[in-house]
Amino acid sequence: MARALELARAAGESGEVPVGAVVLSPEGTVLAEAANAREAQHDPTAHAEIRALRAAGAALGDSHLDGCTLVVTLEPCTMCAGAIVLARVARLVLGAWEPRTGACGSVRDVVRDARANHQVEVRAGLRARESQDLLTAFFSGRR
Ligand SMILES: [Zn+2]
Repeated sequence: MARALELARAAGESGEVPVGAVVLSPEGTVLAEAANAREAQHDPTAHAEIRALRAAGAALGDSHLDGCTLVVTLEPCTMCAGAIVLARVARLVLGAWEPRTGACGSVRDVVRDARANHQVEVRAGLRARESQDLLTAFFSGRR
């Protein structure tokens, strides 16, 4: 989470909404890391989680990230939660809750939907305050 927060902070400094993500292998080594890059890439899907999952799949040579952990500073949205399930990520560690668009337990819970063929273990609230502070500072600076 420390690394994800660093990535988020750097993204915020370059004008992106400050969200960072890291994918850990089953052994706990860093497979991939990414920050939100929607503005730089003019890509509505360039969320930190999507970019990190893509990079992890490329690093592993596999579209399934069995046994892997995704660490992200903010609760993933519906798009990212869907991608996390498709990637068969074992565990999601998230920082701050996203009460408006979160899809991992707040607004909806895509990653633990019993109707899907894969459920993700969720641990929430890790260094949530720091993650939230980055977002709050970013959005207050824009007003
Ligand atoms: Zn997302």
